[in-house]
Amino acid sequence: MAKAVGIRRLPAGDVLELEPGQDPFAHDSIKHLAGRYGSPLFIIDAQRIRAQYRRLAAALPNVDLHYALKPLPHASVIQTLMAEGAYFDLATNGEVDLVQRLGVDAGRCIHTHPIKRDSDIRTALDYGVTRFVVDNPDELRKFVKFRKQASVLIRVSFRSPDAVCDLSKKFGCAPESVAGLLELATELHVKVDGLSFHVGSQSAGSGMHVHAINVCRELMRSAAASGQELTTLDIGGGFPVDYCQRSLTIEEFCAPIREALGLLDGAVRVIGEPGRYIAAPAAVAVSSVMGRAMRDGRWWYYLDDGLYGSYSGQMYDHAKYPIDALVAPGMTYPSVLAGPTCDSIDVIADNIDLPVLEMGDLVVGHVMGAYTWASASEFNFFPRATVLALDRGLLLTGRDPQ
Ligand SMILES: *Cc1c(COP(=O)(O)O)cnc(C)c1O
Repeated sequence: MAKAVGIRRLPAGDVLELEPGQDPFAHDSIKHLAGRYGSPLFIIDAQRIRAQYRRLAAALPNVDLHYALKPLPHASVIQTLMAEGAYFDLATNGEVDLVQRLGVDAGRCIHTHPIKRDSDIRTALDYGVTRFVVDNPDELRKFVKFRKQASVLIRVSFRSPDAVCDLSKKFGCAPESVAGLLELATELHVKVDGLSFHVGSQSAGSGMHVHAINVCRELMRSAAASGQELTTLDIGGGFPVDYCQRSLTIEEFCAPIREALGLLDGAVRVIGEPGRYIAAPAAVAVSSVMGRAMRDGRWWYYLDDGLYGSYSGQMYDHAKYPIDALVAPGMTYPSVLAGPTCDSIDVIADNIDLPVLEMGDLVVGHVMGAYTWASASEFNFFPRATVLALDRGLLLTGRDPQ
C-alpha cells in the first residue's frame, strides 16, 4: 500500500525519475511518484501531448494547429508543442505572459478572445501578436487606432446543441451579420483576414464543423464578389476525447471536415484551435484517502483532491472521468468518493464500485488533462495538486511557478 507522505520539494533541475521507457501512468510509476512527492498529484506526460498533437495533425493535414492554452496552460505542454512546430491560441494577458516567458515566437500566436480591453490588445501587440478576433461593431472600432499593426478574424456563431459545451452562445455574430461587419471594417480601414468559429467543446459529431465550413465558404465567396479577399478560415476547437463515454476516433471525426475543407479555394489558409484533444488524455490526477466513514451501509472515502480541485471539470466542463483505485483487485462494493472540503456538494462519485480502501490508498482519475487543474481553486485552503510533468522518465521541473 502506497502511503501518502508530506509534499517533498521538487528537485531544482530536471532529474531522471523513471526509466525512459516507463509509462508514467502505469500503476507502479504512479505509486513511485506519490511515494516521493506526496498527494495530491497532477501528472502530465509529454509523450502523450506529442502523440495527440501528431495524431490530430495527421487527421487534418494542411491545417495549422494552434494549441488553445485554456484547458491546460502549463509550461511543459507549451514547450513540448513548441518543439513539434505547433502554433498557439492565446486569450488573456496571463497566457501571453506565459508563452512570452517560454520564448514562443509571437508570429506563431493568435489572440482569439472576442472581447478585449484596450490594455489586452496593447499587451499582445507589444509581444508581437498581430492577429485578433472580433464579433461585433464596438470591438471592431477598438482596432481603429491599431490598424497599422493589427488585423482581425470575424467570429461567426453556429449553435451546437450536441456539443457538451456550446461556445457559440456567448460569442460570435450571426452569419447574416458578417457582410455588415465587413463593410464597417472597410470604412474604418481595419484589415479583416478571414472568418473563425468555435462550434462547441467535446462535439459529439463533426456535422456542425462541416456546416460551419460550408457557410463560411459561401460568406468568403460573397466577400470576394464585393472585392474583399478573405484569406484565412479558423475552424476552432471542439475535437472530442473518450471519457467514461466513448467518442468517435479523431480520424472518423475529421474525415468529413477534411472533405469540406477540400472545397475551399486553394489559397485559403486553414487554422484550428484544439485544446481538449491535445491535453485531456495527457494527464492523470492522483489523490489519496484521508479518511473514511460507513454511512447508511456504504463506505464514504474522503480524498485529498475533489470538486474544488482537479475534479473541478466535473462541475464546469460536465465531464465524467474514468476513476480507479490502485489496490489489489478484490470484492467491490458501491461506495462514495468525496473531496476534502467541508462543502457537501464536494462529491466526486456517489455510486462507484470499489474494493475496500484503507487510509493512504491512491485513487487515480484518468483523461484529466483538460479543464481540470486549470480551473481548480484553493477553496477551504486545500492547495491545488502538485504538478509533475514527465518526459520519457525525466521529471521536468522549474518550468512553471505553482
Ligand atoms: C476554449 C477554446 C478553444 C479550445 O477548445 P477545445 O474544445 O478544448 O478544443 C479554442 N478556441 C477558443 C476561442 C476557445 O475559447
